[in-house]
Amino acid sequence: MQHITILGATGSIGVSTLDVIARHPERYAVYALTANSRVEELALQCERFKPKVAVVGSADAAQRLAGLLSRNGLNIQVEYGEAALCAVADASQCDVVMAAIVGAAGLAPTLAAARAGKKILLANKEALVMSGRLFMDAVAASGAALLPIDSEHNAIFQCLPQDYSREPAQHGIAKILLTASGGPFLNRAVDTLDSVTPEEAVAHPNWVMGRKISVDSATMMNKGLEVIEAHWLFGASAGQIDVVIHPQSVIHSMVSYVDGSVVAQLGNPDMRTPIAHALAYPERMASGVQPLDLAGIAQLSFERPDFKRFPCLKLAYDALQAGGTAPAILNAANEVAVQAFLNRQIGFRMIDQLIARVMDRLPHGAVTDIDALFEQDRHARELACSFI
Ligand code: NAD
Ligand code: MG
Repeated sequence: MQHITILGATGSIGVSTLDVIARHPERYAVYALTANSRVEELALQCERFKPKVAVVGSADAAQRLAGLLSRNGLNIQVEYGEAALCAVADASQCDVVMAAIVGAAGLAPTLAAARAGKKILLANKEALVMSGRLFMDAVAASGAALLPIDSEHNAIFQCLPQDYSREPAQHGIAKILLTASGGPFLNRAVDTLDSVTPEEAVAHPNWVMGRKISVDSATMMNKGLEVIEAHWLFGASAGQIDVVIHPQSVIHSMVSYVDGSVVAQLGNPDMRTPIAHALAYPERMASGVQPLDLAGIAQLSFERPDFKRFPCLKLAYDALQAGGTAPAILNAANEVAVQAFLNRQIGFRMIDQLIARVMDRLPHGAVTDIDALFEQDRHARELACSFI
């Protein structure tokens, strides 16, 4: 029996994870569930999955959750705040941590899981983009098992040799080909992009996801963050990672080898596949995902990304090339810009302009330790807010 902590249980990934776990009660038990503010949803999850601990974002939310749980006669320890998130991520009673908090808020508990040598299922790409080498060093030092949940990175993981050592050239790898759907604005006239609404931006053609990652998919910053994520996970340089637009989201990514072979992973766009893959790895287990109907799909198409349409993708490549704290600055500015767009404070095209200005103004440096990184993150947020 594996005991799992789900960081961000009420989110899109959290809910899909619980769906997969519920199919295999003989293999998985829930140790802890966490949410920020959606207390009622978390209470329902607690009733069904009976974790030992539940963590929320504030004292007020904790009080409300404790009230709901005691009304139902459930004896579950209720905590709140970042220290409590870290405690359920590195608790000795927990074997597996699903890191599915959105944004920089997930970094501290995900790093705690890495330091404690847990099996980490990494959905929270922002944590890795921010902390890069620090995070990978913590994983190496503790012997943690790091398994990618992002569908592209999970696909790449499946296309790599079993003994892959994070050195592409040693395994005859020419390129990593990250596929991207292109999001809802792939074919919309570029000069009309500034008038798009938050509702249009979060309406992804193939995937149902949280609001932040949905906007990131519309700007393609999501793909930019994924290029940086692939760099850290697989040891590939910016020049070894190509983005290919593939609007059907059936091929989840590919690895191109020096002999001309291209190995791809395919499946329906449903996050339960990578979640089940990573949970059961190296075994396989059912996920509830429908089998792929290739004849029904009939056509798969591909095109090159256009940096003029998607300047955020270029900004992310630039941040990766710059190195050091540049990806953390990029990520922080993006989080602020996306929130301002969702709040209708800025237009869609201001997202990339705001990030570019923050990147321009804030000098990046070496990543020395986690505190310096959080400091840089705070500076970038302040600067982005002042521009808004
Ligand atoms: P979501 O918005 O649906 O859920 C986010 C979760 O994080 C919620 O449970 C929320 O309570 C929690 N949370 C938010 N802010 C928090 C805070 N300050 N402190 C503590 N908890 C907080 O997001 P999602 O779509 O499930 O995405 C989660 C992560 O997974 C993101 O990093 C995203 O990039 C990544 N991801 C998601 C998908 C997908 O299909 N949804 C695919 C690949 C990667
Ligand atoms: Mg992805």
